Amino acid sequence: APFQVVDVHDLLDATLVMFKAKIPADVRVVREYDHALPPVPAYAAELNQVWTNLIDNALGAMGDRGVLTLRTGRAGDQLVVEVADTGPGIPPEIRPRIFEPFFTTKPVGTGTGLGLDISYRIVVRKHHGDIRVESAPGMTVFRVLLPLPTRRP
Ligand code: ADP
Ligand code: MG
Repeated sequence: APFQVVDVHDLLDATLVMFKAKIPADVRVVREYDHALPPVPAYAAELNQVWTNLIDNALGAMGDRGVLTLRTGRAGDQLVVEVADTGPGIPPEIRPRIFEPFFTTKPVGTGTGLGLDISYRIVVRKHHGDIRVESAPGMTVFRVLLPLPTRRP
């Protein structure tokens, strides 16, 4: 199937709606969207799977309270979507393994360890983008980069 043309903000908001009932009262959701960004060629359902995985991880990391930030912007010829949380952060010693299939630190039966593996495959292999993570005690940011449409001469 060919790429669709999607507004990432619509996708992010649609994903948030799915989580609405699962967001604790003391978790604040902050949206910092750059609405000047153009739509991008993408598979909407697959990108929604990525936002779902990242938001699920962020909420899981924070538990009862914290701030979930969804941010969009531009970096050169790439659109950037950030999913940031104020959870404990990713310990440096497990950081190299988090994108491996079946790698999880969650109790048996709660985590499949597939969320980031699937997200990586969707973003990098199917959309020719990139997915990066930055983390420290008290904060984690997953940054998804998607190629912006190239302007035709
Ligand atoms: P799962 O959520 O089923 O464990 P994922 O592939 O989604 O599998 O994530 C793998 C692991 O990466 C998690 O078990 C956790 O250790 C770590 N991780 C992912 N996102 C975060 C986050 N936002 N904060 C802290 N740790 C995270
Ligand atoms: Mg997960």
